[in-house]
Amino acid sequence: MIKAIKGTKDLLPSDVPRWHYLEDIVKKIFTNFNYKEIRTPIFELTSLFARSIGEETDIVGKEMYTFEDMSGASITLKPEMTAGVVRAFIEHSLGAQQQLTKLYYISPMFRQEKPQAGRLRQFHQFGGEAIGSASPILDAEMIQIAFDILKSLGLKDLTVKINSLGTTETRENFKNLLREFLNDKKDKLSEDSKKRFDNNILRIFDSKIEIDQKLLADAPALIDQLDDESKNDFDLVKEYLTKINIPFEIDPHLVRGLDYYSKTTFEIISGKVGAQDALLGGGRYDLLAEQLGGKPTPAVGFAAGIERILLACENENSFKVDELSIDIYLIRIDKELELKVSELASELRRKGLRVEYDYLQRSVKAQMREANKFNARFALFIGGGEYEEGKMNLKDMKTSEQKLIPIDNISEVIDNIKI
Ligand code: AMP
Repeated sequence: MIKAIKGTKDLLPSDVPRWHYLEDIVKKIFTNFNYKEIRTPIFELTSLFARSIGEETDIVGKEMYTFEDMSGASITLKPEMTAGVVRAFIEHSLGAQQQLTKLYYISPMFRQEKPQAGRLRQFHQFGGEAIGSASPILDAEMIQIAFDILKSLGLKDLTVKINSLGTTETRENFKNLLREFLNDKKDKLSEDSKKRFDNNILRIFDSKIEIDQKLLADAPALIDQLDDESKNDFDLVKEYLTKINIPFEIDPHLVRGLDYYSKTTFEIISGKVGAQDALLGGGRYDLLAEQLGGKPTPAVGFAAGIERILLACENENSFKVDELSIDIYLIRIDKELELKVSELASELRRKGLRVEYDYLQRSVKAQMREANKFNARFALFIGGGEYEEGKMNLKDMKTSEQKLIPIDNISEVIDNIKI
């Protein structure tokens, strides 16, 4: 038997209501902040991701699903959304229509990571991108959107971590400082960190390996070396977050795995999902638009992992969705009324009711059982002596009250249901 690929997951009808619940909240909150939805293609030219995310990052280095198409072009299934959004922003001159473009998305992403709890090869993210303003208030607002969505899902065990990576110049100076600090300790670093020492030294802070963490314990912190502008901006982010009641911690080691970040970075962590505990992450990426051939355009955004968030919700038992019930089940008493029943059903459905009936010539008892299984609010009995007298019996399944309704007066059925 052919099975689904490792690291991918079928979302079965019993899973989907929880996804709809989350997606509705995401859409509602982004819309409250006046963000508009954007949908970009599942695949892009590989060079888009290499240029934006960075050649030396884990994503571009080893996780992308890349293939050649028939023309020989190198194509990649999107591992994240920001690159595609900024590409679309530039390509369609979205910035010409308004100074600040506020966009959100919900989309599948693809990364060839080792599958484990909370880590898939096809996973889903929602996120936001605000392109066109350098205001630190927008950074705080972005964190607020992320935080409010998680709170609206009923999550409690959350920690907001923030940091600032400063400007490019600050970062370059800091990298030299860090290199000096680690120079005589380099041999003791883990293999991954040794590589990062040469290629992308800041990412050493991402390491979860104990020896690395120990060596880094006394390392200089970027946050202590910030230039005045970044420091002012960071102070404003903190001040605004405090004003809007978002508790946060400063994590000087929060560098994030993508190259395009500058100044504010943030993550929201759950205490309820195990080792892969980051529910979402984001930050400012003021240089990306220019890097991708657009005009210099400051921007800020975040991306959140839906599977991980739903896992946290499950583990915190944070919300419950009722199974969708149906309005009415039509019970056919006489076999020969099969066509009449389907005709009635189609009429009721066209009037906007959720309707079900039996397609398998089952007994009245079996039809009743199914009406209960679907949690039908009403049952309509079609057939028997009543039918010969031109009536149908409408039963309220909650109160067991029954009412006779003329066969040709379907609107009376609807009136009864809609009350
Ligand atoms: P990133 O784009 O790496 O900053 O990831 C943002 C969020 O996406 C993370 O905090 C996770 O919630 C989620 N995420 C990233 N990679 C995966 C993955 N392989 N499987 C499931 N969720 C993921």
